[in-house]
Amino acid sequence: MYEYSGAIHIHSTYSDGTGSPEHIAQCANEAGLDFLILTDHNSIQAKTDGYERWFNNTMFIVGYEVNDIKNENHYLVFGLDELIGTFQVLHNGELGCKLSAKEYVEEIKRRGGVGFLAHPFEKRSSFPEHPPYPWTEWNTDDFDGIEIWNHMSEWVEDLTEANKVQRFIHPLKSIIAPNAEAVKKWDELNLRRKVTMVGSVDAHAHKMSLMGFYNVEVFPYKVLFKSIRTHVLLDEPVKAGDNDSFQNYKKNIVKALKDGRSFVANSYYGDAKGFRFYADYEGEKFQMGDEILLKKNDKKVVLNFMVPKLTKIKVMRNGECVHESKGFGGLWDVHEEGCYRVECWIEDRAWIYSNHIRIKKV
Ligand SMILES: [Zn+2]
Ligand SMILES: [Zn+2]
Repeated sequence: MYEYSGAIHIHSTYSDGTGSPEHIAQCANEAGLDFLILTDHNSIQAKTDGYERWFNNTMFIVGYEVNDIKNENHYLVFGLDELIGTFQVLHNGELGCKLSAKEYVEEIKRRGGVGFLAHPFEKRSSFPEHPPYPWTEWNTDDFDGIEIWNHMSEWVEDLTEANKVQRFIHPLKSIIAPNAEAVKKWDELNLRRKVTMVGSVDAHAHKMSLMGFYNVEVFPYKVLFKSIRTHVLLDEPVKAGDNDSFQNYKKNIVKALKDGRSFVANSYYGDAKGFRFYADYEGEKFQMGDEILLKKNDKKVVLNFMVPKLTKIKVMRNGECVHESKGFGGLWDVHEEGCYRVECWIEDRAWIYSNHIRIKKV
């Protein structure tokens, strides 16, 4: 398996971000990202303009974020080089898709795109110019996954006058854990069908006012690229700079996200490269995103986890913690069906969240 880490959900000057693609790519290089996925609102112009390519060792991938006419139901779309539906200019100057969320989610799937609900439980009131954009259309089963961790949403959520200055100065220290409601929903949905997850930065580098100073950058791309990353595990290696294989590499990364062969980590607390969570059953190895069909025999499934740093490790089954330990990894025997995943915590801060391994009785 070959592991690559990237930043997902980034806005540039093609929508409401303040950084050019070149600047974003440079910040990604400096942060050592293997890939990034640009997701401007209702725009893939960056792709048309030739930005989907290598920037040194970073793959610059172009996706987009679509929203409906009420500017709700933001949806991240990967691996589809066309916008779906027609658009209308909204009162704030942004665009809204004329299709309903249910319709665009369905259409994107039909055309082979991969989609994740963006910041589905966003709540924020600190900046009237940046209201929350939650997911409201739950009457659909066509999305691939959920964004459970969004740096920007979490940072803004508990912002108060009292902690505002602290948060501007230390944007990375205020990030604690994935959104609890999103995690709960994600675990619940998995009782019914496979739903995967990603973590994102939702980088805009917005300019806001602070203590009488206007246009303070909240917060630069360079800073954000040190926070939430999504790591993918691929069967084939990615060779940096190989232009001929770029589209193939991109396909593999998007597929790993869709399949859930991935985990998220807050790299501010350490590089999570090397984390592994897999299962052994009857001589076969199963990875995150896989499903194991338990036969009617007494053989147990053994969950294996390895962590690159000493942490608190929780094994979760259907959203409940069934085992907790401290160390660099371990094993856990399973006889019961359920959706299993691993969380790693450094004191009271979440560091790594894996995708599920699903175990089902036949
Ligand atoms: Zn959004
Ligand atoms: Zn966004």
